[in-house]
Amino acid sequence: MSLLFALAGNQNSGKTTLFNRLTGSNQHVGNFPGVTVEKKEGPVKKHPEAVVVDLPGIYSLSPYTSEEIVTRDFVLQEHPDGIINIVDATNIERNLYLSLQLIELGIPMVIALNMMDEVRASGNSIKVKELSAELGIPIVPISAGKNEGIDELIDTAIRVASQKQKPLKYDFCEGEVHKAIHAIAHIVSDQAAEAGLPLRFTATKLVEGDEPTRNLLKLDEDQKHIIDHIVEDMESELGTDREAALADMRYTFIEKACAACVIKHQETREQLRSEKIDAVLTSKFWGIPIFIGIMFFIFWVTFTLLGEPLQNLMDKGIQLFTDGLASLMEMAKISDWLQRLVIDGICAGVGSVLSFLPIIVLLFFFLSLLEDSGYMARVAFVMDKLLRKIGLSGRSFVPMLIGFGCSVPAIMSARTLSSERDRKMTILLTPFMSCSAKLPIYGMIIMAFFPTHRALIMISVYLIGILVAILSGLLLKSTVFKGNPVPFVMELPAYRIPSPRSVLLLMWEKAKDFLRKAFTIIFMAAIVIWFLQSFDLRLNMVTDSSASILAQIGNLIAPLFTPIGFHDWRASTALITGITAKETVVSTLTVLTGAATDAQLAEILGTIFTPLSAYAFLVFTVLYMPCVAAFAASKRELGSWKGAILTSLYQTGAAYVVATIVYQVGRLFIH
Ligand code: GDP
Ligand code: MG
Repeated sequence: MSLLFALAGNQNSGKTTLFNRLTGSNQHVGNFPGVTVEKKEGPVKKHPEAVVVDLPGIYSLSPYTSEEIVTRDFVLQEHPDGIINIVDATNIERNLYLSLQLIELGIPMVIALNMMDEVRASGNSIKVKELSAELGIPIVPISAGKNEGIDELIDTAIRVASQKQKPLKYDFCEGEVHKAIHAIAHIVSDQAAEAGLPLRFTATKLVEGDEPTRNLLKLDEDQKHIIDHIVEDMESELGTDREAALADMRYTFIEKACAACVIKHQETREQLRSEKIDAVLTSKFWGIPIFIGIMFFIFWVTFTLLGEPLQNLMDKGIQLFTDGLASLMEMAKISDWLQRLVIDGICAGVGSVLSFLPIIVLLFFFLSLLEDSGYMARVAFVMDKLLRKIGLSGRSFVPMLIGFGCSVPAIMSARTLSSERDRKMTILLTPFMSCSAKLPIYGMIIMAFFPTHRALIMISVYLIGILVAILSGLLLKSTVFKGNPVPFVMELPAYRIPSPRSVLLLMWEKAKDFLRKAFTIIFMAAIVIWFLQSFDLRLNMVTDSSASILAQIGNLIAPLFTPIGFHDWRASTALITGITAKETVVSTLTVLTGAATDAQLAEILGTIFTPLSAYAFLVFTVLYMPCVAAFAASKRELGSWKGAILTSLYQTGAAYVVATIVYQVGRLFIH
């Protein structure tokens, strides 16, 4: 016998932490609403017959955002054997609002009362037995973070599910709402059974005016009429609208239950501390300067203080390895072309990218600190006002900040936006945030042309990305995406000390991703590029790569880039191959120039670019269409090829225009 459990709860209540505890897996945990956007499943440790599914966090079962739809569809259509409803005990009133709706589904259910460590530490307590009796379902106090109560939770969940023990109570309502729900339940009981929907849930949803539920039922005109009539009666009796009436009914019940069962002397330590910190970090005056200061500090540490020496160390290691390999192959008298393929193609190509590993890991280290501590959610808040000016809401700030790491998860996280308009616009603008894969490109150009202005160039490129996003927002707001962003409501999680485990895990994941990319896509691209630049169309090996197949292809497109100031076929080829993965721009240029050392590379790049056109090249790379992985992600999220292609065209067009302006205007000043 196998049992399927849905793990449902509010955002940031600790679902993923619990999921990891239960299954022993390593899903990403973040102190940030909206981290889990897809459902994930896994068998429970020591109970292989039980499978849990981690669902995105939701506040209600109304289908307003796509996460709510994912969760709702799952519980309604997959018919799980049990629901484990995780409730943040430090925020119990708000969390129980969802619990009451889940109970209506009539599925065996247990509440995992999480974060009990924080409740205890602040001297508060919760009468679990009494609360459980009020709600009619078992409640197990746990701390997913501290690994307490997990065994008892899973035992209870398995017992409830295998005995098919449904919630004991459904009726949390009184007066007019009660009358309406019961009257409607009576009318639709046959249709609900036919559609496979739980009756109580169906009735409540009809009172609430939930369209999808109404459409699932095969109601005749008479029935629809009567239902509308019942609801109108209720509304006029109560003097509120249908949704408010239901919300009111649920909160009244919760308030009563909590008054009897929750002993709260004070806010938890974490909440008190958060209030103090927030007084500074989110203040009107200091909020933005502090954020900018923090970002500068992070960039400085990542790129200069720690990044540079670590990168040099990596470079030395790679050089040693390459030299060793070269002399080994020499000794073994390996054929000449193979030696060149391995050294000039693979080692040079992959090596040029590999040395960026420390910088990328550092960047993700800081991003995960920001996220885990709860600071990122504040920044979204502070930024809301500014983002509104360009037609977005603070909600869009999340994807954008993740975009500095990688566009793929960034585009996926745009899913948490409830309005279609905001979502599309965010997906379009996020890739303008310079992702970490582009760092090697900046590094290479800076090394060759601006070695003494590392930080300045780096920051200017990031700022250009942000600026173009802002201008695009203004443009789109008044043309394609007319309308207003939805109001920004996000609950601020308490500040928490980031868990070292979760931070290390993320760094390890990112390092793995990066290495995987280096040894798959970039490895293959380096080989292909090496072949294409070593042979001509008749497959004769060429001595001068400007006679190669690649040169011929590159020469076809090279003139396109003349207005931006470079017309060398190697530069245009690098931009094209960069679409596979941005790091490939570097490996391609390294292979094509055949440079063995950084100094040689700098010298040859000096013949391809002037400092000005090199800068214009950077501007183009930061803005033009993202890599295939990000393209695929936008296709998935936008739901159409057309959307994804138009988006890429817009981005590439913007890159072309802005880079041209930079070069042409720059030429007026620099000769
Ligand atoms: P989700 O959004 O519901 O998946 O929540 P996460 O699992 O990502 O956790 C949200 C935050 O709460 C993270 O910072 C966790 O480290 C923290 N957290 C989770 N469980 C506990 C707990 O039992 N005690 C404490 N103090 N923190 C926890
Ligand atoms: Mg999660």
